[in-house]
Amino acid sequence: MTERDLLMIPGPTNVDPKVLRSMARPTLSHTSTAFATVFKETVTDLGRIFQTKGTVLPLAGTGTLGAEVALSNVIEPGDRVLSISAGYFGDRLAEISKNLGANVDKLEVSWGSAARLDDVERKLSETPYKVVMVVHVDTSTGVANPVKQLGSLAKAKGVLFVVDSVCSMGGMDVRVDEWGINVCFTGSQKALAAPPGMTVISFDSKAIEARESRSTPPSSYYGDIKRWLPILQEPTRYFATPAVNMVYALHESCRMILSEGLEERFRRHAKLATAFRAGLRAMGLQLLCEDSVASNTLTVAYYPKGVSDVEFRKSMAEDYGVVVAGELGPLKDKAFRVGHMGNVNRSDILSTLSAVEGSLQRQAYRFQPGSGVAAANRSLQTN
Ligand code: PLP
Repeated sequence: MTERDLLMIPGPTNVDPKVLRSMARPTLSHTSTAFATVFKETVTDLGRIFQTKGTVLPLAGTGTLGAEVALSNVIEPGDRVLSISAGYFGDRLAEISKNLGANVDKLEVSWGSAARLDDVERKLSETPYKVVMVVHVDTSTGVANPVKQLGSLAKAKGVLFVVDSVCSMGGMDVRVDEWGINVCFTGSQKALAAPPGMTVISFDSKAIEARESRSTPPSSYYGDIKRWLPILQEPTRYFATPAVNMVYALHESCRMILSEGLEERFRRHAKLATAFRAGLRAMGLQLLCEDSVASNTLTVAYYPKGVSDVEFRKSMAEDYGVVVAGELGPLKDKAFRVGHMGNVNRSDILSTLSAVEGSLQRQAYRFQPGSGVAAANRSLQTN
């Protein structure tokens, strides 16, 4: 891996040097007024990106910690919860809920499909769940679930709605307040385009009420939102030391996101995703999901018959300096995943397609050379 390699995995993504340089600034006292200002600005900017007026908590840790913090505040042992599971990370939400002592019903959705609203509505009508949870974009499939509509269903049934936006926030529209998301979490290393190491969790007033009215404290001491509320109000107070230099990074990446503008950023992601899919299809590759449910942050493509996952990704990385990801669970070795989120641009999309073409040619897969890059260029010029 050289410093010029192109990271096209679904997180971590390429981090802008400006963000990296921000981390090299001196580590301030975590309770200083200077750091409190940076922290407050970061929280305000994150609120704009989450499109919420609720409480936004950036914490040192990864997306998985975000899931634990989100769920551990609103779930008590014995609570009935519905976990919509349409991939690897949907399964993880169910597992975490089980760990918290919840009585978990899983609504299984096949990999490559999105959750069906009538199935969810039926489940919510049958059982008085306390919480329903879903992954917006499951990184194992590249499918975007209909979070807006699921939010309306949850609201109508009076069920708390928890959303994993790890693979969408900052790259796709996620309207936390408007869509009725009570708790939403993400990670720093994907479309927020900062290095890994921070999670961000938002809580609306209903979620905070659910925490307040618990009969048992949350199992997570560090992740108890009640302990963080005074810090969010006055960051010069101490509860647990924030990851000062990671907050600098998040601060800088939020500034970059907001200066691009959310709408413009979502448009860029949509345009590049469309071009990327067009390029793969022009090479004859089959994608895991249909365009109607495809996310704009990553794409999953099946390998043509006879193409080895190990050899393909080795050639991508060693011959072209482009790092893509293998698949997980039942699709391991059968497909590859490409992340196109965060700072991704046209050249990244075209270089990746060119590398895919070269790496497939090496494995004797026959197709029209140059067809993928040409199709993507056409899409970029017309969309
Ligand atoms: N949820 C989704 C959708 C993810 O893609 C990931 C990681 O890739 C996670 C949760 C877990 O995040 P982390 O690996 O940062 O703990």
